[in-house]
Amino acid sequence: MIKKIFCIIIVFLLIPANVFATDGGAENEKKYIKWVDFDVSSSALADSADIDIKTYGGDEHVGWIELLAYLGAKYGGDFSRYKKSDIDAAVIAVRDGTANEMKYYSYYLQAYGAVLSGMLGEYCVSDGDTLVKKYGIKAFFPFAKGYYYSEFDDFGTQRTYGYRRPHLGHDMMGSVGTPIVAVESGYVEALGWNQYGGWRVGIRSFDGKRYYYYAHLRASHPYGAGIVEGATVQAGQVIGYLGMTGYSTKEGVSNITTPHLHIGMQLIFDKSQKDGVNQIWIDMYQIVKFLSSRRSAVEKRDGDYYATSPIIDMDIPD
Ligand SMILES: [Zn+2]
Repeated sequence: MIKKIFCIIIVFLLIPANVFATDGGAENEKKYIKWVDFDVSSSALADSADIDIKTYGGDEHVGWIELLAYLGAKYGGDFSRYKKSDIDAAVIAVRDGTANEMKYYSYYLQAYGAVLSGMLGEYCVSDGDTLVKKYGIKAFFPFAKGYYYSEFDDFGTQRTYGYRRPHLGHDMMGSVGTPIVAVESGYVEALGWNQYGGWRVGIRSFDGKRYYYYAHLRASHPYGAGIVEGATVQAGQVIGYLGMTGYSTKEGVSNITTPHLHIGMQLIFDKSQKDGVNQIWIDMYQIVKFLSSRRSAVEKRDGDYYATSPIIDMDIPD
C-alpha cells in the first residue's frame, strides 16, 4: 500500500493584496485584480523555474514567481523584452528586497502567482510501495507522451459561432482519441455537453484561483476513467480524449471539422469574475510551450488510458 504519510503537505500562501482595484462603496470595498495579460515567454518560464528548483532547500531559495514578478514590473508585462541576463538582476533584487520597491511588483506577484502557483512545487512519485518526495515542475503538457500535435498562438482571434467574440483559449490540433491529461491537479467542477465546447471538462485548481477548460472531446467515450463531477484529478492523469464536438445547442450534434483540443485558463480573484462580463481568460500558448517536454506517459488498460507514473500533488487539501 502506498502511504501518503511519507510526504509532508506544504501549502503555498500568496502574499496579501495591496490596492489594485476597488469595487463598491467605501464601507464595503473589495480589492482584487481585475485584469491580467499573461505574456510571460516560455524561455523566461524555463529560466526562472530552473533557478527556483536549483536554489530550493537552501537559505537562498528564490521562487520563480518572484523572479517573474520582478521581470514583469521591469518590462511592464511585455516579455518580448526578455533577456536571460536580466534574470541575474532579478535574483539579486528578489534576495535583497529591492524588487518589493518596484511600483507594480506586488501586482505581478499576485497576477503571475494566480497563473503559476500550482505548476511548480512539491509532489510525490511512487517507487514500489513508498512515495518519493520531489520538488520541481509538476504540471504537464495537455497531450499524453508520444502523440502528435500542432499549434500556433490563436488566443484573441475572432470566432463567429454563436456571436462574434475573441477566442479565449488555445487550440491544439491532433488526432481523434489522443489521450488528454490534466495540466494541473484539481477538482472536476464541470462535465458534460456545452454548446461551444461540446463534451468538455472543467477542472478547478486546489487553491480555487484557476479554472481549466478542456473542450471538443471525443464524441464517443469523451472522458477518462473516474472523471466525474467532484472527482480529484492529479496532474498528468488522463481526463479525456481529443475529438471534434461542439458548436451546437443539441447535445451530441457537432459542427466542428478539425479535431483539436481547446484549452483555456480562467483566473478568479473574486467570485464575481466566475461568470458574466468580468471573466479573465489568459493565453496559454507560452505555458503549453514551456511544458512541451513535460509529457505524461500513458498505457491502455480495459479501454481507457492511464498515466504510467502518476504523481501526487502535495498541495491537495486534506
Ligand atoms: Zn478554441
